[in-house]
Amino acid sequence: MKTPHKRRTIAILLALTLPVVAGTAAAWGDIGHRIVAELAWRQLDPSARAEVERLLKADGDDSLPDVASWPDRLRDNPETRDLGKATGPLHYADFHDPKCHYNPPVDCADGKCVVGGLEKYVAILGDRHKSDAERAEALKFVVHFVGDVHQPLHAGNRDDKGGNEYQVQFDGKGTNLHSVWDSKLLYTRDLKWDAYADRLAAQGPVTLPRAIPPLDNAYAQWAEESCQVVATPGFYPDSHKIDDAYVAKNLPVAELRLREAGKRLADLLNKTLD
Ligand SMILES: [Zn+2]
Repeated sequence: MKTPHKRRTIAILLALTLPVVAGTAAAWGDIGHRIVAELAWRQLDPSARAEVERLLKADGDDSLPDVASWPDRLRDNPETRDLGKATGPLHYADFHDPKCHYNPPVDCADGKCVVGGLEKYVAILGDRHKSDAERAEALKFVVHFVGDVHQPLHAGNRDDKGGNEYQVQFDGKGTNLHSVWDSKLLYTRDLKWDAYADRLAAQGPVTLPRAIPPLDNAYAQWAEESCQVVATPGFYPDSHKIDDAYVAKNLPVAELRLREAGKRLADLLNKTLD
């Protein structure tokens, strides 16, 4: 009697777990994207909040955190697979300069990097002549890409697919550095995304790094900051081991990036939707 029930429970658990596992390969895991969206939502002014709610509702979505990982799921669905492929390069930027200076012709040819993705979709989101459907889609990309550009390994300058090819040991298991930064560092807190957002929000307003001129390219600055984090000595552990000292040093860095992303996403939406 117990077996079918148990089997069904396992099937449901698997169904719930799999999309999250699939998502972790491409970006901050679902948890990181949800935290960024939630932190931003709490800092939206009333008119931007109303417009976000209106666009999400028109698209049949419930909340900003719910849509924050949507661009990572596009390839899982036959109907959206082509859009997923076309927008794949917009989730990251590959820097070529050891000093992390952003060089658009090389690092973002034809606008195909996360900086170009933000430029493209922020413009659509802010264009009142576009349809609600187009603007809702743009909103989902913007929420996601602001998160991605703050994940340091989405804008690094090593030729290793953003740390995906750098194998490490963590908690007695083999993984890679990208996966550690996507979600495994955050999982060490053992918090669900909403409780995690509460924890970060309780730290108060984040002080953002000073904007580097020209001010019209904030997205490039965010990417350069990520690159600088990746270029920090010790970011790539020579031992290929993620030990307690690595977590103690880098978890606060990951959390600061989430808080910066949340604040910047809120500022961006407030400006674009007012
Ligand atoms: Zn992504």
